[in-house]
Amino acid sequence: MARTEWTKTNIPKHMLTVIDRYLDSDFARERGLTSRTDVILGALRMLFERDGFYPHRPRFEPMDVTNERVRIVDNALQRITTVRLRSRYLLCELCNARECIHIDFALSLPDVHRLLPTRSRVSRGW
Ligand SMILES: [Zn+2]
Repeated sequence: MARTEWTKTNIPKHMLTVIDRYLDSDFARERGLTSRTDVILGALRMLFERDGFYPHRPRFEPMDVTNERVRIVDNALQRITTVRLRSRYLLCELCNARECIHIDFALSLPDVHRLLPTRSRVSRGW
């Protein structure tokens, strides 16, 4: 979204201290939140979705699948991640991990499952 579509608001300074502490936590790292804006938008979105003021979206949505990768929209994190389809494993670029919730979602997609080598599916329990 272009920054010209944004506006400013004020919050108490002590809330910024809490936000900064949150940004240093594993919670923020796991959610991919890297800025004060990320935290504030995530908190507002959760509140509005919970109270029915914001359309609830699924956590993950597939964008596209190729032979080498699947791109996934993570609506909770407001991020797009690429999961690379390697011959012996999958790699999530957002988490920089071989096992994460994005890979679990990728594995639930029939198009991705069809692309995995049969041997890998058996050895990994896919
Ligand atoms: Zn991931």
